Amino acid sequence: MTNYVIEPPKQVTLPVRGGDAEFPVRRIYCIGRNYADHAIEMGHDPDKEPPFFFQKNAENVDTSGEFPYPPQTSDVHFEMEMIVALKSGGVDILEKDALDHVFGYGLGLDMTRRDLQGEAKKMGRPWEIGKAFERSAPMSELVPASETGHLDHGRVALEVNGELRQEGDLNQMIWKVPEMISYLSRFYDIAAGDLIMSGTPAGVGPIKRGDVMVGTVDGLGSFTITVV
Ligand code: MN
Repeated sequence: MTNYVIEPPKQVTLPVRGGDAEFPVRRIYCIGRNYADHAIEMGHDPDKEPPFFFQKNAENVDTSGEFPYPPQTSDVHFEMEMIVALKSGGVDILEKDALDHVFGYGLGLDMTRRDLQGEAKKMGRPWEIGKAFERSAPMSELVPASETGHLDHGRVALEVNGELRQEGDLNQMIWKVPEMISYLSRFYDIAAGDLIMSGTPAGVGPIKRGDVMVGTVDGLGSFTITVV
C-alpha cells in the first residue's frame, strides 16, 4: 500500500442508474457554442468557427441537488447540457468508431460566473475563473447507452421555477457527439472516465438563491437543482 504524505484526494464519481456501481470521473471537456441559436445570443457567427473546448475539474462535479451561489460574482448563469461519459479512449479516434467509447449519458449544468467569464474574454485571459469553480457542474446519474441507445436527437430543456427558459433538440448540435470525441482525441489522450459536456441551447440566463432548476433530456429524464 502506498504511504502518502497527505490524505489522497477522493475519487469523484457519478451514480449509474440501475445498480450500485459508480462511474469514476477523470476529466471534463466542455464545448463552447455548440448550438447555433446560443452562439448567436452570445454574439458570434456559428458558421465561421471551428469547435473549441474548455475544461472543468472533476472536483467541480456535484450530485447533491443543491447549487450554492458562488462567491465573487453577481451574475451566475445556467447552461443545460447533455453529458457524454466515456468508458475508453485513445488518440486519433475516427468518427465512425467514436460511439464505441461511450459508456452512457447524463444531465448536467455548466454553471457559469458570466461576469467573470466576460471580463476574461475581454482581456484575452483563460475562462477557468468563470467556469471551473466549486460545485459548478451539477450532474445527474448516468444512464448506460446499453439502456438508452446513442442519443442524437431529442428535446433538451430547462425550467426555472416552473417557467421554460431553455429549449432545443440534440439534433441541433453543430458538432455531433462522434465529431467531438474524434476532434478531442486529436489533441488529447482521452480516456475512460472522461466526460464531455455537449453544449447548451439558447436561453441561458441568471439565477438567484431559492430558484429551482429542472433540466430534461428526452430519453434520460429530468433532474432538479435548487440554488441555495
Ligand atoms: Mn456550456
